[in-house]
Amino acid sequence: MPEEFGAGLLRVDLGPGVVAGFTTRHGGVSPAPWSSLDLGTSTGDDPARVQENRARLAAWVDAPVAFATQVHGDGVLALGPDDRDAWSAEHPPLSAGEADALVTDEDGLGLGVLVADCVPVLLADPVARVAGVAHAGRAGLAAGVVLRALDALLERGARAEDVRAAVGPSVCGRCYEVPEDLRASVSAVVPQAWATTDTGTPALDLAGGVLAQLAARGVVAEHVDRCTRTDADLFSHRRATAEGTTTGRQAGVVVLA
Ligand SMILES: [Zn+2]
Repeated sequence: MPEEFGAGLLRVDLGPGVVAGFTTRHGGVSPAPWSSLDLGTSTGDDPARVQENRARLAAWVDAPVAFATQVHGDGVLALGPDDRDAWSAEHPPLSAGEADALVTDEDGLGLGVLVADCVPVLLADPVARVAGVAHAGRAGLAAGVVLRALDALLERGARAEDVRAAVGPSVCGRCYEVPEDLRASVSAVVPQAWATTDTGTPALDLAGGVLAQLAARGVVAEHVDRCTRTDADLFSHRRATAEGTTTGRQAGVVVLA
């Protein structure tokens, strides 16, 4: 099981010289309903608090962490030395641009992916020294965003047999109820995502789908199998919506240290 470090980061092992993990909602400065480590910029939270929360994450992983503006697509953005400088500045940007995956071969530049039920995926080849993150919700899973991120690593010299992956906390297949036609359309592309809720209604297992996509490419992933919908230590968009409120965003992060 991942151990917690920093105030709220679940560490995963992606190999030597790679720092990687998933944040929980703990360890930040935001008040309810974002309490407390809200790393998102589309949540209604005060950007100054989000920047402080991001600065804490950067301190825990000992590197600046870049984030994209995620749009439920399959776009991959490659970051380099100029981005490390920009995100190391006293006033870093809020976004590196629109994308649902980031890749880099730059040491000391963290890549972050924001979620609150969707699946955060971390990738690294500790031999070729390339890393990536991907955001896979229902649309991203079907569009293959995780595979686009993996392809981007391979284009930068990674080998599938050396790539290590981690799939972080997300809403589980027993909780993620969807209309029947949505289950049908997503499972037509990714059969392993087909699921049923505890009450017998149609559902999707997004993490199961991502794990199957990676396995089909020969990549074995560690799964931090915690459900955001039912785990009070994690942000859940669905839980917040059901309660008539909003919530924050947690992150997956990977750094070539
Ligand atoms: Zn669940």
